[in-house]
Amino acid sequence: MFGEKEINRLASDIVEAKKVVALSGAGMSVESEIAPFRGPGGLWEKYNPEEYGHIATLRNAPEKAWLMLLEMHREIGKAKPNRGHYALAELEKIGCLSSIITQNVDGLHHVAGNKDVIEFHGNLLSVVCMDCGYSKPSTELDLDAIPPSCDTCNGPVKPDAVFFGEAIPPDALMRAHEESSTCDLMLVIGTSAMVQPAGSMPQVAKRAGAKVVEINPSETPLTGLISDYIVLGQSGDVLEQTITAVKQMKG
Ligand code: NAD
Ligand code: ZN
Repeated sequence: MFGEKEINRLASDIVEAKKVVALSGAGMSVESEIAPFRGPGGLWEKYNPEEYGHIATLRNAPEKAWLMLLEMHREIGKAKPNRGHYALAELEKIGCLSSIITQNVDGLHHVAGNKDVIEFHGNLLSVVCMDCGYSKPSTELDLDAIPPSCDTCNGPVKPDAVFFGEAIPPDALMRAHEESSTCDLMLVIGTSAMVQPAGSMPQVAKRAGAKVVEINPSETPLTGLISDYIVLGQSGDVLEQTITAVKQMKG
């Protein structure tokens, strides 16, 4: 686990960097009680996300895809940002964080107050008709009529998120690439970095000369290879203590 030494190291790296970018994953929202895919309590224990969350499943067996989607929808519906989200919002406010590239679909970085959030995988906050494009907030879904169909044309409906087998929205991909290749410090928070191409952004940053630091209670495939060091802990704990140290250092 981490101590004061690790926090001070991270805080001074943040203070000294010219441009800090964060890449966040499902682990960031674990303290908001949203299950991640991998790890203890992860959705993987019940569903194979690469199968249930595949665009082909949504098209061919929507009742199966919506089993996992409804579970995520329920958790996200009642979730609130945690200490880690608020610490990142504060870091942006004091000029120490340029942007967040998030793989999360829960919208919690926005709720916490971050302004520049690149939603690499879209979000689950609205649903859209696959035939006519009609869209509405997910909160207006009739949970007694699942899988849902479009209010206007009766076509199949999908959450406004990127499914396995789908391309990343070009704008998000372009901006994520640009932010990763122009930062000099990347914070990789709560992600196993196994979903591509999001998982390769730390490598893009590294290749462009940035320092890469992980915040995660467990090591990942990046540890010791791509990342310069890892602060082993929950993102809420680590980020809350880090923002306090950053503010002290900046006076
Ligand atoms: P993942 O589920 O593959 O990995 C989660 C990572 O978080 C693990 O490395 C784990 O050790 C770490 N972790 C667990 N608790 C943590 C904590 N308290 N603090 C910090 N780290 C913690 O997640 P992923 O790499 O983001 O990839 C999964 C994909 O699943 C993403 O692309 C995303 O679209 C989707 N997803 C999103 C949500 C969400 O929006 N909250 C939830 C589940 C899955
Ligand atoms: Zn429609």
